[in-house]
Amino acid sequence: KQDGEEAKEIAKYLPYFPFKGIDRFYDIGGFLCEPEIFQKIVDIFVERYETIGVDVIVGLDARGFILGPPIALAMKKPFVMMRKEGKMPNTVKSPGYDMEYGKRSGLTVQRDKIKEGDRVLIIDDLVATGGTLSSAISLVKMLGGTVVECACVVELKCFIDPPEDSGMPSRKKTFEK
Ligand code: IMP
Repeated sequence: KQDGEEAKEIAKYLPYFPFKGIDRFYDIGGFLCEPEIFQKIVDIFVERYETIGVDVIVGLDARGFILGPPIALAMKKPFVMMRKEGKMPNTVKSPGYDMEYGKRSGLTVQRDKIKEGDRVLIIDDLVATGGTLSSAISLVKMLGGTVVECACVVELKCFIDPPEDSGMPSRKKTFEK
């Protein structure tokens, strides 16, 4: 589905957001207003993870909170929030991590939500450098869980630093605030 018309709808981009140095910000807001596309995305994930088998679905702040719950409800599995620090009581924190344009402090999750041996699925809207997902994976491991897979709607890594002869557009690597 990567190159299909529906994928283009999902990966619509806007220039210069959140600041001038980012020349292409991929906006997943569009498909949330398209119930048929949104439902199809949820169904694809549900089918895959019912086959693979997971115990807990973790959503990353903030757009993982939109995609995760319909998947968790369809699978009748618990949904757990992973958030920036200071948003929830009784949390464990992962180490800080690098993003495309700067450092982020670690993610947090409530202590009792992931148990030793849990098979965990991590959900976010988009992966760019993978820094956010790596931090989420560390946190699940710190609590004794196993990350079965990470699932995103848009994968951007190839666009940040594509091979020269690939013809793929590059998202700028230098940023002006
Ligand atoms: P990473 O840690 O570099 O992989 O960045 C992924 C995180 O940043 C995700 O939580 C995304 O929601 C957010 N992000 C980075 N670039 C974009 C974008 O172009 N559109 C939407 N979200 C983005």
